[in-house]
Amino acid sequence: MNIHEYQAKEVLKGYGAPVAEGVAITSADEAEAAAKQLPGPLYVVKSQIHAGGRGKGKFKELGPDAKGGVRLAKSIEEAVAHAKEMLGNTLVTKQTGDAGKVVNRLYIEDGADIDRELYLSLLVDRSVGQIAFVASTEGGMDIETVAEETPDKIITVPIDPIAGVTAGDAEKLCTALKLGGAAKVDGMQLFPILYKAFTEKDMSLLEINPLIVMKDGHLRVLDAKVSFDGNALFRHDDIRALRDESEEDAKEIEASKWDLAYVALDGNIGCMVNGAGLAMATMDIIKLYGKEPANFCDVGGGANKEKVAAAFKIITADPAVQGILVNIFGGIMKCDVIAEGVVAAVKEVGLKVPLVVRLEGTNVDLGKKILNESGLAITAADDLDDAAKKIVAAIG
Ligand code: GDP
Ligand code: MG
Repeated sequence: MNIHEYQAKEVLKGYGAPVAEGVAITSADEAEAAAKQLPGPLYVVKSQIHAGGRGKGKFKELGPDAKGGVRLAKSIEEAVAHAKEMLGNTLVTKQTGDAGKVVNRLYIEDGADIDRELYLSLLVDRSVGQIAFVASTEGGMDIETVAEETPDKIITVPIDPIAGVTAGDAEKLCTALKLGGAAKVDGMQLFPILYKAFTEKDMSLLEINPLIVMKDGHLRVLDAKVSFDGNALFRHDDIRALRDESEEDAKEIEASKWDLAYVALDGNIGCMVNGAGLAMATMDIIKLYGKEPANFCDVGGGANKEKVAAAFKIITADPAVQGILVNIFGGIMKCDVIAEGVVAAVKEVGLKVPLVVRLEGTNVDLGKKILNESGLAITAADDLDDAAKKIVAAIG
């Protein structure tokens, strides 16, 4: 689960990280009062969307010469003018795709005098099986570009889970970020704070780009992107409350209500499968025959008719779906339950695209009988290969 920058800063502030004062607003009427709460004379007006690259982003409605999604203002009047121009418009950044994201919320922040912009993140480094800091002096820009062009400017410091952030680790990070004086004192405090927040809140990514050294020599968290491990959310009521559903894929939200493992993808063959392994294999074989899956959807082992129908409705509601492949191995799951769910869903929402069904396992004959007698235009398949070939052929 992702959260907004202002929420991430609130979480980090709770752990004692240095962040600027700021006020989140959802209407331009609130901009003046918000700015007045800040010390000034420099303000930053920041679009709150779940995507990075806002500073260099462009508003669709404002034309190419307008300023981006993160703007500096030298007076309250200027901050208010920016807020009026930005709110309600669609920001397109490197990370949003062409469709962009509507800016429904702004964060008005106390502006900082920047000396240097650094990069610092915490992530789960699978290659060493540890949480690791990633640091670079090249902050404020795309870290992927830095990784590609000057990989030697990125250093990784894995953290021992028993020892936590040692003085040696913190020293390494200070050296990598070229921190001295007050900035070093701040850094030595900040690194353990970030690690504590990361582990206690079950984060999967904590990215500060940039972490800045200010003109007064101190460090400040200027931008913050935080993602949480969805499987751990059950034990963090405070974090769950930060969820902004308007930023998420509507299909994924509906799927999560039904406890379906569903991930929207870019292709056009909708898949309904039971078991993650079989779902992966189904996606692979669709690709093998030259097409792309529209989603990953695992209805799980013990799904009932209602859950299957919900999954089917979510898949058919996706306008990109040109054909559907249902691939079920009935182990714990029974084929007749799947068949009943599919029939019920099709009767409710209709079937406008080709549907190929491959059933195998428990109660397979009963399942096939239910489908055959349903009067629906369903193509039956014998095995995985046959099923993939048939659905690819059907969408042409
Ligand atoms: P992003 O573009 O979505 O990554 O948004 P950031 O929060 O990283 O802001 C983009 C850029 O705006 C930063 O890299 C800074 O150069 C600039 N910026 C943001 N806040 C301030 C500020 O308080 N003072 C100054 N001078 N620049 C800022
Ligand atoms: Mg940034």
